[in-house]
Amino acid sequence: MRCYADMLREMKRALFLDRDGVINRERGAHTVRLEEFEILPGVPEAVSAANAAGWTVIVITNQSGIDLGLYDHAALDRMHGYLHDVLQANGTHVADILYCPHHPTKGRCLCRKPGSLLLERAAARHGTDPAFSIMIGDKQRDVEAAMAAGVRGVLMDANSSLLDQLRFERVIP
Ligand SMILES: [Mg+2]
Ligand SMILES: [Zn+2]
Repeated sequence: MRCYADMLREMKRALFLDRDGVINRERGAHTVRLEEFEILPGVPEAVSAANAAGWTVIVITNQSGIDLGLYDHAALDRMHGYLHDVLQANGTHVADILYCPHHPTKGRCLCRKPGSLLLERAAARHGTDPAFSIMIGDKQRDVEAAMAAGVRGVLMDANSSLLDQLRFERVIP
């Protein structure tokens, strides 16, 4: 029989991260073009440290600019491809990026935060346990989405240091 400590060690924990204001600079407007996608200082180091500490890092983001016609899926893929490249160049990675492309004026969906569908989908896809996971975002709706998915939600200031936040929350040493 396996003991409880073994089970805890095997439990996969997700570190869910909001995108705008946490990974790249929140501009106070939609990030439409790749040139506007500015990765914040210390983010590759923060993701690297989280992975090293055993977290599966997953990005969960509202991208209603797609529904609004400000950019399309291909443009978003280019931004996320760039993020993957920068992380890879730093020897690290995020396991997944899930986004909601919907805008509330075009009808309701379940995936837009504060909805919890994307967190639940990510947890199912990656086999992570919500009870041992954490979500960090810069808006109250990030925390609400986390809570609805049974995940601890943490609010941080937009464009502040993710590295400091992860240390403060004891996500990383
Ligand atoms: Mg944000
Ligand atoms: Zn949606």
